[in-house]
Amino acid sequence: MTQSIYFAPLLPWQQTLWTQLTDRVLTPPHHLPHALLAAGMAGMGKRAFVWRFVAWLLCQRRGSHPLGACGDCESCQWLKSGTHPSLQVLPLTSMPLEAEPENQQEPSHSNSSAKSKKQSLANKSAKSVSNALVTIKVDDIRALQPFIYQGGQGMRICVLDYAEQMTIAAANALLKTLEEPQAQVHLFLLSDTPAKLLPTIKSRVQQLPLQHIESSIAIDYVQQALGSTINRQAVSPEQIRQLLQLANGAPLAAIDLAQASWYAKRALWLTTWQALRSGKRSSLAASDYWQQQLPLTDFIKLTELMLLDIRRIAMGLASNQVDIELSQALAQYQPTDTGLQKLSDSLQQIKVSLQQNVQEKFAYDKLMQQLAYL
Ligand SMILES: [Zn+2]
Repeated sequence: MTQSIYFAPLLPWQQTLWTQLTDRVLTPPHHLPHALLAAGMAGMGKRAFVWRFVAWLLCQRRGSHPLGACGDCESCQWLKSGTHPSLQVLPLTSMPLEAEPENQQEPSHSNSSAKSKKQSLANKSAKSVSNALVTIKVDDIRALQPFIYQGGQGMRICVLDYAEQMTIAAANALLKTLEEPQAQVHLFLLSDTPAKLLPTIKSRVQQLPLQHIESSIAIDYVQQALGSTINRQAVSPEQIRQLLQLANGAPLAAIDLAQASWYAKRALWLTTWQALRSGKRSSLAASDYWQQQLPLTDFIKLTELMLLDIRRIAMGLASNQVDIELSQALAQYQPTDTGLQKLSDSLQQIKVSLQQNVQEKFAYDKLMQQLAYL
């Protein structure tokens, strides 16, 4: 059974915060901050937390359901149909609809739904990418004002996703709202890149402590979600630790990484790079080969990950990847700083050119030529 993000199980590292916030609402003086910010890198489950909490705040039976919205009352039904009169969401496309848990994986021990899972992962990332590019304009904020100032009974909630995408004018308009808290109105701001938020906004919202995850809890969660195999390979505790390390400790991002087809091709990338460098393979042949293996956007992600680790090793740090022989390869030969910088600049250029419909084959050829001289 798929569950909507509003009613999905609480992520294990969010228990304490859940209890603290729900206690503040349920016990006198019933005070919840007017504006809350859930910020931090993607993959920590902050959207899952916010949507779950919003559903609970709106639930008519929350007093007798402290662990999450009841799922049956009128409010919960409205959420399910995406027509809640007391909830406004910006950008509009961020509104979660029925059974699509964004940024949340159900722990699963079977691989039977691997294909549909893959599909939903693809949809999910397409959706979050498109949302991250949507700008929140001043008119969008102004359109919220009647809802915020209408008064009346019952709680009203505004969710601003990708809050860093507000224009300056939009942020200034929001600032006014933040300075005039209205009874029963709560604002939730979400951001993967809070550094881009205006300091005046940040100083008027209370940040939710969602970023610290104890490593043992993260390891258990990823282990449980992946089951015993990834791509029919057994998962070892070292691999779980590596996934979390590469995902900067974000469990949901670690799970996405494990399931990404490009992640399984890291050793192949290394082989190709070495063959290109030694001239055993031409860049055109390598380009043809990889075009069959991965879409270019995935090859770019793969190359970025490898580049990051090559840089770590060049700085004398240990490789993040223990399951491929990168350190051994770099003991034989290390690219120069200039070479690494050039490649990383090219990756950025190619990403931009792909948005302008540059042919994938052309970009692949260029990238392979660069790898040959790295
Ligand atoms: Zn309910």
